[in-house]
This record gives sequence, structure tokens and C-alpha cells, in this order.
Amino acid sequence: MEQVALVRCHTYQLNMLRNQLQELLEPLGGISRFVRPGQRVLLKPNLLAAKTPEAAVTTHPAVVQAVAELVQQAGGEVLIGDSPGIGSLEKVAEKSGIMAAAQAVGARLVAFQATARISAGGTFRQLELSKDYLEADVVINLPKLKTHEMMTLTCGVKNLYGTVVGAAKAGLHLTAGRSRELFAGLLLEIAQARPVALTIVDGVLAMEGNGPNSGTPRQLGWLLAGANPIAVDLVAARLVGIPTELLPVEQEALRRHLPGSRWEELELSGVPLDAIQPPFKLPEGLDVQFGLPRFLRNLLRDHLTPLPAADERLCVLCGICRDACPPQAITITKNALKVDSGRCIRCWCCRELCPRHALVVRRGLLARLVRQR
Ligand code: SF4
Ligand code: SF4
Repeated sequence: MEQVALVRCHTYQLNMLRNQLQELLEPLGGISRFVRPGQRVLLKPNLLAAKTPEAAVTTHPAVVQAVAELVQQAGGEVLIGDSPGIGSLEKVAEKSGIMAAAQAVGARLVAFQATARISAGGTFRQLELSKDYLEADVVINLPKLKTHEMMTLTCGVKNLYGTVVGAAKAGLHLTAGRSRELFAGLLLEIAQARPVALTIVDGVLAMEGNGPNSGTPRQLGWLLAGANPIAVDLVAARLVGIPTELLPVEQEALRRHLPGSRWEELELSGVPLDAIQPPFKLPEGLDVQFGLPRFLRNLLRDHLTPLPAADERLCVLCGICRDACPPQAITITKNALKVDSGRCIRCWCCRELCPRHALVVRRGLLARLVRQR
């Protein structure tokens, strides 16, 4: 059985968080089950972009600090690392409050730069991931619970995509192309190539709607934890009312018969799960092909899938989205931004990274009809 623990937590007040984290980890065996004295323990928060904690884009600094303190009490040395989607780690850590949290506990911030190869043994065979991540004695995964335009939800498994360093992220997106199944498989292979010891989800203030960067913060009031991020994500999705059929990662995990992918094999402990009402709002850019037969999906693909388009009132033609676009589907002329629908793989990296939230979702009539079903 895969164990997942849950506790309620409505505040980022440090004292309360410390207590709730201890309560959360107790049924899992406490922090000492995961960390031994002298080990180098890497905390991997979500440091997507330079946003303040209230924006709910990044893992809250109080969660990072409280987990770091627990690790230190168990005798571990704490490192905090990531490769942000946009901007330097230093800038993102400063704005998100993670730098102050690291300083408060004397932990070292590590910008993922150097890489090493690891065998993935699946579709992708060899993966090039952060060397610091691969070489840490223990990794504790600290995702933020958010919706995600491409993968519906970003939580334990998706958070580990940050171990792919810098521009290599775009390269892997391109390899997966428009296939969410392939990209989900890649995420699972990353998670399995170097298993994390523990995933602790920051679901105190979560994000719904157009996540992971432009959604709406929503007070959720939960912390979740477990050794298996697939199992943790399954519980997180149930909590926010997102059906498993809309989760490419969980679907692919199920197809591969991976541990933690079946609800029947989960053992929940702590506070009984109480799904929120109303459920999370889904992202606008979410693919509407889910649930349609494969032959119809292939036939109507271009009419069904939404496309990003620039809102001229907000776009300043800075080029950040163009530079991040894996298949180079964006062109910017003197006064306009255009997206080539034939090239676009609907990864939504552009919307994820636009600092002005200037990219909107454009849908054809057919796509609008299907979404209303
Ligand atoms: S990143 Fe945003 S503001 Fe910059 S060019 Fe793209 S859409 Fe416009
Ligand atoms: S235009 Fe946006 S959604 Fe399309 S491939 Fe480029 S980054 Fe991805």
C-alpha cells in the first residue's frame, strides 16, 4: 500500500506550520524515517517565477523553512535548489521569500546548472538532470498545488520537471510534441530515475484556473505528504475535485501499472479527506479532446485544440515567450505577435512565462461547443 497523509492547515504562521508538519509526518514515521544525521538533504520547492508568496505561484517560504528546520533537527544538512522557468534562481528566491527562509535556517541555495546523465529505462532511456539533484543523499520534494494548462494539475510529479536544467526543458517539450501522453511519460520517467524520499505538498494557499502562473490563488487549507509522488498527486486531485480522466500523468501511470496509480492501493492517514466545494476551476487552455474517441481526436485536432494569442493591450512585444517557445512557433514583428498554429504544440510555456499575462486562449467554435458538453 502507498501511504499518503493529510492535515488541515489554514495559515503560514511558522509555529502553526511546524506543529502541523510534525502531525502530518507522524503516521509516515516522522522525519527521522527519511533523514539520517550527516546526510545532505536537497529541498526542491516550486520556484517557477519571481512572484510574491501571495500569488501562490511558488512554494510558500514558511513551508520551506519549517521543513528545513525539521531536517536540521534530524541532523541533515539542508540545500534548497531549483531551475526556475524564468529568471535566475537568485531573483526568484528573493521575490518569493525563499532566500530569506534559507538565510533564517542557514541553508544553502543551489541554482541547478551542472547536469549529469541518468538511465531512465523507458521511452527516454537517458535523461540529463541537475547534478546537485542527482548527487544529494536525500531529496524532499516541496510542490505547490496548482492547476496547469498543459497537464491539468502540477503537484508532486510535475514539480520534478524543474530538475531539467534551463533550456533543456524546451528541448524535451519539443521531443514530446503535442502528445500529452508522451510528456506525461517523460515526467514519470524523471520521477522514477531518481526517486525522491518524500513529497510534502503546499496546499495551504493553492491555485485554480489558469495555472501554473496566471491562475487565481485559492485558500485550500491542506498539507499532504507521502513517499510516492504519484499517490500524493492522486489524493491532491481528489481533494480539489479534478477527475483522474483529466490528468495525463495519472492516466499514464495507470497505463504503466506504476505503484500509487490506483486509488485502491492508497492508504490515507491523518484527517479524513474532505473534497472542496466547488471543485477547482480548470485552466482555459486545457485540451478539450479528453473523452473523445481517438479517431475523432485525430480528425478534428486542429479545430479542437485552443491556441495562444496576444492581447494587444497587454503585450509589450518583449520576446520572452518567443524565446521560450520550444518549436519556435512565435514570431514578433515591429508591432505584432503571431503564433503559427501548425507549429504550436500547445505546451503553454508561453502563457506560463509571460510576465504580463498577455497571452489569451483562442478557441474555435467547435472547441467551444465540445467544452460546453
Ligand atoms: S512574453 Fe508576454 S508581453 Fe512579452 S511578447 Fe510574449 S506575450 Fe508579449
Ligand atoms: S506558442 Fe506557446 S503553446 Fe504554442 S508551442 Fe509555443 S510556447 Fe507552446
